[in-house]
Amino acid sequence: MPEKIGFIGLGIMGRGMTRNLLKAGFEVYVWNRTAARMDELAADGAKPTSSPADLAAQCDIIITCVSDTPDVEQVILGDSGVIQGVKSGALVIDMSTISPKATRDIAAKLAENTIAMLDAPTSGGSEGAAKGTLSIMVGGEAAAFERALPVFQAMGKTITHMGAIGSGQMTKLVNQALVVVNMLAAAEALLLAQAGGLDLEKTIQAIGSGAAGSWMWNNRGPQVIVRDWRPGFTIDLQQKDLRLVLESAQELGVPMLATSMVSMLYRTLQAQGLGSEGNHGLVKALEHLAGFEVKKSL
Ligand code: NAP
Repeated sequence: MPEKIGFIGLGIMGRGMTRNLLKAGFEVYVWNRTAARMDELAADGAKPTSSPADLAAQCDIIITCVSDTPDVEQVILGDSGVIQGVKSGALVIDMSTISPKATRDIAAKLAENTIAMLDAPTSGGSEGAAKGTLSIMVGGEAAAFERALPVFQAMGKTITHMGAIGSGQMTKLVNQALVVVNMLAAAEALLLAQAGGLDLEKTIQAIGSGAAGSWMWNNRGPQVIVRDWRPGFTIDLQQKDLRLVLESAQELGVPMLATSMVSMLYRTLQAQGLGSEGNHGLVKALEHLAGFEVKKSL
């Protein structure tokens, strides 16, 4: 019998991921706090449920993809949470980005009820969720990983078992530190190019495939120079992830100078009401310090 899948959290990410599970032929049960969001997935063949506990009672593998650490705690361990309905032998997979330490605590509570858990945060954004091309970084027991692999393959392309529970989240935090520091470098370099009188489009092309290139430089650089601030990933969500990075750095005693600075720069942008803009808006904080803007000449 194929495993029945439950999906909790039909946000930007969860909607695309659920559709790909349906496309792959899985029977999928769904729950979302704002119930109306279940309607469009029901039209695609998903089965709505009345609570995370109700969903868990009908499923073999239960996936969560909600906003932050307290939200995952609530939908898994809360009053009508997964733990209240889950069947023995079920597997819980959290695909949100949350604290590695809290992940281990949640897994320990589930283990008291003989329920296995994997942490499986993603990168690749809403586009990757919709296309089924996410990178998925997984922590937990090897047997649980093997069991979940067909489910991950329906949602992602690069699927890596990183090690013990929490190591998926730790990998995602490493990813986020790199993303923002690369963006800081790109923003600073674009200011220098602007001040030096270079053609910005040519500069991005000339450098992009060499040692100085990065995903942020190649993909967000062109957006910056036409001042297109539409988000692939918002400043507010980025700050949530940087809070998790810096909490882990604090716990582990790791100095993260550049990441801390970026977080403070993003804070200045949030104070100006720019939290819903794309994370490449970081350049605006540097422009404020420099006294001029990066802009492609017409
Ligand atoms: P989103 O569009 O804001 O959706 C958040 C989802 O979580 C919604 O379904 C929301 O329900 C639900 N939720 C939040 N708090 C809840 C609570 N206390 N109880 C029950 N449900 C709750 O966010 P998203 O972009 O899908 O992101 C989901 C997770 O994936 C986050 O951890 C994010 O960091 C991570 N992620 C996002 C991206 C990206 O590019 N967007 C990329 C990689 C990873 P309602 O509908 O009721 O609000």
